[in-house]
Amino acid sequence: MRLVDLRSDTVTRPTAAMRKVMAEAEVGDDVWGDDPTVNRLQAVAAERFDFEAALFFPSGTQSNLAAMLTWCQRGDEVLVGADAHTFLHEGGGVAALGSIHSHALPNEADGSLDASVVRRAIKPKDLHFARTRLLALENTLDGKVVPQERLEAACAVAKQHGLATHLDGARLMNAVVKTGRSEAQLSAPFDSVSLCLSKGLGAPVGSLLLGERPFIDEARRWRKTLGGGMRQAGVLAAAGLYALEHHVARLADDHANAAHLASRLAGLAGVTVLPVQTNMVWLDLAPTLTTGFVARLAEHGVLASGAERVRLVVHLDVSRDDVEYAARVIHSLTSPRSA
Ligand SMILES: *Cc1c(COP(=O)(O)O)cnc(C)c1O
Repeated sequence: MRLVDLRSDTVTRPTAAMRKVMAEAEVGDDVWGDDPTVNRLQAVAAERFDFEAALFFPSGTQSNLAAMLTWCQRGDEVLVGADAHTFLHEGGGVAALGSIHSHALPNEADGSLDASVVRRAIKPKDLHFARTRLLALENTLDGKVVPQERLEAACAVAKQHGLATHLDGARLMNAVVKTGRSEAQLSAPFDSVSLCLSKGLGAPVGSLLLGERPFIDEARRWRKTLGGGMRQAGVLAAAGLYALEHHVARLADDHANAAHLASRLAGLAGVTVLPVQTNMVWLDLAPTLTTGFVARLAEHGVLASGAERVRLVVHLDVSRDDVEYAARVIHSLTSPRSA
């Protein structure tokens, strides 16, 4: 049976060309700073994002966590969106491992945090309160490119109050391709940025944390503490370098495929297609459709996630033809008689 895996853009497999550079990568012990390929990846990324330094991590969760541990001490507070990955999907690591207090603020429909909401959430210096130390934002969020002026406004308020600012830019390259603005421009309001290489960019493993040198030096300590020191990691960094060179511009194909899928599903009874900006299509299902919908899709080889709100993510391993197939399956499940 045909399989179209739309659960996430994490499911991509390294291409033959990527595997080749991995096999041929020069390596050393990166905990000692000796891996030339890791060092090259970090240097290339720092230059592209216009930060002093970068650090290669095994995952985005660990990269975000190391950033928050670096910015915040025990008992400090981070302001974060209630829909943010760092708040919802990272196992509560900042609390469990950092004794850092998360204050979750409502994300606006465009994915942003409102600057005035941020301002009101920053605690006065008073022994009753946690010390608000960090504002953590996300772009893209649920496939939405957060308007840059909104990110800038929230960061400006944070800076006025002496907070550091971190961007979970797991899918920032999707925003780069969508907006035509560079990664340096989109990162400019932030003191630190985390980028996933293993999502739409198609590397098997890895994330980068970017920032100024003293921040990255401290984050390297935390990475070791968290068990993220890797040895001959150049094999993985080679995939990351390949991804940054060859898999950024092609994200436009994913965006076009997502838009095509959305247009093919528009107007289906019981299905509301949310506006598509990048590589994610979200479907709100009528209650009559919800039960077992994702399981029935899977029976036809189309893998998705969610229940009332279903997420379909296109990526490197999904062709236009795959998207067409998925659309036909969804048509057949929502209007059985016309199938
Ligand atoms: C995937 C993701 C992460 C975490 O990355 P992992 O490598 O899966 O730990 C962080 N933030 C966002 C927005 C993500 O999508």
